[in-house]
Amino acid sequence: MEPEADIKTTAKGFFCMLCNVNLPNQSSLEQHVLGRKHQTLRTVRSTRKKEEEHSVFVSGLKPDTTQLDLVEYFRQFGAVTDVIMDKDKGVFAIVHFGEEAGVEAVLSCPEHRLKGLKLRVKPREKKEFKLILKNKDNDQNLQRAFERLKPDLCQTASVDAQMQHVMERFQLGDNEKKARGLLVQLLQEVFIEFFPDSQVLPFGSSVNTFGVHSCDLDLFLDLDNTKIFQAHAKPEQTGEGTSDDGRSEDSILSDIDLSSASPTEVLELVAVILRRCVPSVHKVNVVAGARLPVVKFHHRELNLHGDITINNRLAVRNTRFLQLCSGVEVRLRPLVFAIRYWAKQKQLAGNPSGAGSLLNNYALTLLVIFYLQNRQPAVLPTVEQLKAMACEEEECVIEGWNCTFPSQPIAVPTSTNTQNLCSLLAGFFTFYAQFDFAGSVISLREGRVLPVADFLGQSKEEEEEEAMEEEQPAKAHQSGLKLGPFNLLDPFELSHNVAGNLTERSRRSFQRECQEGEKYCRSLQYQRKSTKGKTWGLVRLFCPQGNVPQSKSEAGDLSISIPFKLSALPEELRLRLHTAGDAFRQLWFQRVCFAVEGVFQRVLRCGSAPSATTAEDSAVEMESASTSLNTSTASDLTDSWGEPSPPGAASAGGKRRLSSDSDDASPHGKKPRLGRGAKTASPHWVWTQSHKVWAGRRKVRRELIKDRDARPEGSCVEVESQVTAHILDKEEALKDPVEFKVESQMVGGTESTKALLKFKPNRDNEGLFQDFFHFLEVFLPKMVETLLQTEG
Ligand code: ATP
Ligand code: MG
Repeated sequence: MEPEADIKTTAKGFFCMLCNVNLPNQSSLEQHVLGRKHQTLRTVRSTRKKEEEHSVFVSGLKPDTTQLDLVEYFRQFGAVTDVIMDKDKGVFAIVHFGEEAGVEAVLSCPEHRLKGLKLRVKPREKKEFKLILKNKDNDQNLQRAFERLKPDLCQTASVDAQMQHVMERFQLGDNEKKARGLLVQLLQEVFIEFFPDSQVLPFGSSVNTFGVHSCDLDLFLDLDNTKIFQAHAKPEQTGEGTSDDGRSEDSILSDIDLSSASPTEVLELVAVILRRCVPSVHKVNVVAGARLPVVKFHHRELNLHGDITINNRLAVRNTRFLQLCSGVEVRLRPLVFAIRYWAKQKQLAGNPSGAGSLLNNYALTLLVIFYLQNRQPAVLPTVEQLKAMACEEEECVIEGWNCTFPSQPIAVPTSTNTQNLCSLLAGFFTFYAQFDFAGSVISLREGRVLPVADFLGQSKEEEEEEAMEEEQPAKAHQSGLKLGPFNLLDPFELSHNVAGNLTERSRRSFQRECQEGEKYCRSLQYQRKSTKGKTWGLVRLFCPQGNVPQSKSEAGDLSISIPFKLSALPEELRLRLHTAGDAFRQLWFQRVCFAVEGVFQRVLRCGSAPSATTAEDSAVEMESASTSLNTSTASDLTDSWGEPSPPGAASAGGKRRLSSDSDDASPHGKKPRLGRGAKTASPHWVWTQSHKVWAGRRKVRRELIKDRDARPEGSCVEVESQVTAHILDKEEALKDPVEFKVESQMVGGTESTKALLKFKPNRDNEGLFQDFFHFLEVFLPKMVETLLQTEG
């Protein structure tokens, strides 16, 4: 199906039926259609469709029919690639063929017989693609659950009591825990048959004290002892049929050498065992592409989703750590339950099936613990302090990471902090509302933030050398940390950013919601029960996200921010930022402004209009800025910003230097104009545009890149410049060009570092600026990123 078939025109713009989203205008539609979500769903849909077209539905099987029987029978029609059987009932199967011709051949055969029974063979039913509907159902369920929760919360006496109520309402009940325990036992019994001496260990929310009804069951299949068993058994295997302990060699273990098999190969075997031997287990899938490969399954009777991993000893240990924290501090659980619920309602956490750009529950819990470590006085100790409280027998190192902490809460002194839950929850929002995410790496190990600059551009060798000198072996592990908009260091695996999957957008949403939460928690509605039966306390805090205005421009905010995104910068620039030391933000900001200018001038071919601010002001400002620059940074900046103007650029300007002692910095642009009387140089530009360069770009781009690799919008400077040139060439000019002003400013320090661009239409007689701005909201940050990448 072509993308257009998924798009419906509505009174408010467009609606994508595949992704279930509203799109306000043409440019956001174009962006959406090329975006990852839409493209992924299209791929999934076409894969499913292909699967349907390549397979047949077979029923009327004898109960003892095996997959092999079916393969044997159906291969006469074409290569059979897979057979999926309904294991529980044993009455139907789906047979996949490598080619569609196989399906045609089967269906054209008038009669099929197997083991004396007549088989019924039908084409597969064409099912509508339902992925999105499921999400919608989830949202609705969430909403319904919230509606049911509201009256109870409103009647509760205090915020503290509300938080206790939320916890009691959602936590795993004793029976649920028992049922999970029984399933673990059953799995243990099954797996030990195939993997002698193996152990099935539950971890994650089923056992870490933060589990809610229906949370998944995370299991670690520990095969270390099986490997030892296998190593010992090997010499005995002489083809006699049994090994020394009498276990049958017909076991699955004889098919695989655990010491050399890949995790996926082992998990494929685990999947086979689950499918064949565990009653009520279905929907078994191996997900090999995940950070940790996993087998997913569903238990029908318990309605439980489960995950089995084989390389996850650290997760078992960090689960123990969470259990310990709960045992040490009784306020932790209600706090975590409330914050998880809040995050779920605001769509900040809870990635479906582990993928996505939101925080997961583990990361969210770590954020709560970190916040508690940073209270005055501290509510929880740091991981380093916990390590010091452990005794010798509790020492634990996993994969080279020190995971030592006491096994019992009693070993940890009680905190002297007496804040109640209500104030701790409010404090959580305040803490992260002002948090400098761009400049910080959150370390629970040390209970403080580490400057991001410490992690910039340092090579592994350098770090190891440093660590050796400082006799701090743990620090050597910091190399390889994937820095991003949100840097949350795992407490044990110190090279792992637990929030490394977050995008700048999800980071921003998290912080914005914390700011909203902070504001609300200051109000009386939060702290005092309403005497008039109105919603108060947690109820308002838990209101689902959705009351925010659809577009910033509709809300009168014509600003676009370009966040500091280390991961998107080229290696050379990272190194420069590292050598710039504290001035790295200014240097980065300069680069961004240069790129912004490049987008308007070269990519979108805007003309520059005379500004209201005089050139004299600008010169004076630059002069004063340059005198306060520290020498090493100055040479750095001159180097980086000294490239010649590209041919055809509207104007060329002198080099501009930074003030090193301020967070607000000015780039050396080609035609920067500086606000009169401003303390630091904040460049602004006035641009004109005489064509609708934002309209119809997708079509032009498609035509231009027909024969090349398909590139998404904004990923290639050359292509985008050509698209603009084409529009300028072929489309009629506007009667009255649009003129607009762009002011740049770096926002940093206590907030995350970003370049803030404020837009103001000076002339917009045809009412086109709104559309242009919508387009820029998406296009400009992407294009700036590309320019930073390609032109460093
Ligand atoms: P829930 O399943 O209710 O969302 P959970 O804590 O079980 O919560 P999962 O995503 O299922 O979260 O992860 C299971 C466990 O795996 C976590 O509790 C944690 O021990 C570990 N884990 C999850 N994500 C990470 C991560 N990014 N880094 C390190 N360990 C992780
Ligand atoms: Mg889980």
